[in-house]
Amino acid sequence: MNLEDYIRDIKDFPTAGIVFKDITPMLNNSEAFQYALNELLNFIQDKKIDKVVGMESRGFFFAPMLALKLNAGFVPVRKEGKLPSKTISESYGLEYGKDTLQIHVDAIQKGDAVLVHDDVLATGGTAEATCKLVEQLGGIVVQCNFLIELDFLQGRTKLKSYETKSILHY
Ligand code: AMP
Repeated sequence: MNLEDYIRDIKDFPTAGIVFKDITPMLNNSEAFQYALNELLNFIQDKKIDKVVGMESRGFFFAPMLALKLNAGFVPVRKEGKLPSKTISESYGLEYGKDTLQIHVDAIQKGDAVLVHDDVLATGGTAEATCKLVEQLGGIVVQCNFLIELDFLQGRTKLKSYETKSILHY
């Protein structure tokens, strides 16, 4: 399976100068979709996972499926103001300004083994902020995994303390 064949580059989306990695052709093809899910599951091997944390919004495609396959719970991390119950927040820098992510305070118990999943690892700010949220609640980040890693942005350097795996590298 050549998964790259199902990833579409969209130039200048959402803003000029960005090459957006569009995974919808992969989601649209059952073989590619299944293959990607299996690759992510293979990364986990026999590690015990209590919670899979997925980031809004494209982390939500795979994180719940990974959770079900791993007999774990799913936890959404969302942009500020979207989660209805009590939350904690973590802000991280963007090229211009900042963004804030939130998690429900009761979503993770102390000592939970946590898998963090998103579609793309770019500069690493999103994943780093998510790991901090997990740790603030006493969770242990066992792995961060991604469909795609943009190596040239060196996001991995922000995740040095964690095992980090990606299916495709650009
Ligand atoms: P970052 O915090 O820079 O690692 O950005 C990661 C987040 O932004 C992920 O949730 C991705 O979905 C999204 N993202 C960043 N760059 C791209 C890209 N070139 N193509 C698709 N999604 C991207």
